[in-house]
Amino acid sequence: MKWISDLIDLIFPRHCCVCGEVLSRQEHDICLNCLCTLPKIEPHHKPEIEQIFWGKIDIERATSFIYYRKGSPYNTLMHRLKYKDAPEVGTRLAIMAAKELIESGFFDGITRIVPLPLSKKKQRQRGYNQSEYIALGLSDITGIPVDTRLVKRNIANETQTHKNRDERWENVKDIFSVNTDATLDGEHVLLVDDILTTGATLCSCAGTLQSKCRCKTSIFTLAYTYNNF
Ligand SMILES: [Zn+2]
Repeated sequence: MKWISDLIDLIFPRHCCVCGEVLSRQEHDICLNCLCTLPKIEPHHKPEIEQIFWGKIDIERATSFIYYRKGSPYNTLMHRLKYKDAPEVGTRLAIMAAKELIESGFFDGITRIVPLPLSKKKQRQRGYNQSEYIALGLSDITGIPVDTRLVKRNIANETQTHKNRDERWENVKDIFSVNTDATLDGEHVLLVDDILTTGATLCSCAGTLQSKCRCKTSIFTLAYTYNNF
């Protein structure tokens, strides 16, 4: 029904969330121009992502797709995903990321994709878990199943913003539990989150998984904040 979507676009034009230009029918979230200059993390900065976890948790691989820089107009993508009730942005960006990553072997051996859960309270407030939408995008390209039941978040610790580095690490201790008594020997779990900052929450989740299930762990986040802490 092309004419219907054309008509809807005419009456309610959609705008690029980066530059504000009107989007064409084929474009979603951002226009083609802004898409071409998406602040992807350069290959030589990728090892920096894994280094965040060194000495803290045993991980196989870790990567992130775009930078989340202070003042960047591209941050609106993440704001839409988290606060503007537009979680499908996360799926579309994750599809783009997965198409690029799959060639590199990043997903090789991974047996399930586990989005970082929100606390019940937070999920109720937001109405969805943004990391689940990212996980769905990765699964769409890789065919690896998404598992939203394996890990549970016990405590709402989401307010990390005003905490310093040490306080953030203290704040995330034992906030997750695992919903199974089975060990996952031989499995390789990909933990998925929206934005990587200190990595404290991801480390906490990976630590719980590894101690309870003895599985390998890798990490994917859509964005990486590298100058805000
Ligand atoms: Zn644009």
